[in-house]
Amino acid sequence: MQQLKEQVLEANLALPRFGLVTFTWGNVSAIDRERGWVAIKPSGVSYEGMRAEDIVVIDLQVNVVEGKWRPSSDTATHLALYRRYPSLGGIVHTHSTHATAWAQAGLAIPALGTTHADYFYGDIPCTRPLNEAEVQNDYELNTGNVIIETLGECEPLHMPGMVVYQHGPFSWGKDAHDAVHNAVVLEEVAKMAWIARGINPQLKPIDRYLMNQHYLRKHGPDAWYGQK
Ligand SMILES: [Zn+2]
Repeated sequence: MQQLKEQVLEANLALPRFGLVTFTWGNVSAIDRERGWVAIKPSGVSYEGMRAEDIVVIDLQVNVVEGKWRPSSDTATHLALYRRYPSLGGIVHTHSTHATAWAQAGLAIPALGTTHADYFYGDIPCTRPLNEAEVQNDYELNTGNVIIETLGECEPLHMPGMVVYQHGPFSWGKDAHDAVHNAVVLEEVAKMAWIARGINPQLKPIDRYLMNQHYLRKHGPDAWYGQK
């Protein structure tokens, strides 16, 4: 459990280091699938001085296993995703500026180049708006549900993030470290897409063959990128 908490602490501390969070707006969790434990940032605790003992450990039904603080207010969103997708090991939520700007614009982040295609196999979706009832009852759970509805049967590790309409980005990965990495890339490609569209409002999406080359060399069954 200590290892899980330290991994989550480290991942949470990485958010301000990469410029992804302001104040306490962000959280990372990780899951130990064998034991069914989820470690997550405590609610409203600042990143400065956060220690491993501040990390809250819960089970998939939100029972606290260990911790002196209440878990992040976004916990129900994280748990919904872990329950639905067994391949997920870590989840990140931030309000990073450029990804949030696309969320507020209500638009998917278009796949325009190879930086995007190295990580995300297609446009990064934007969810539909939540309706009034979904916001008033079980808002955080419904945020998870609308992400699941948007991903559908897609393997989440092939589309390791999306933006929630008028809210902001969620990303995920095989563990907490990987999820933070994907959150950083999501923010960067959101920024690049915004700038590229400003330079050329008529620009075309990345060609399918170029996307395939980049995504599949890193993630396909015959991936060949990197060191053996
Ligand atoms: Zn949020």
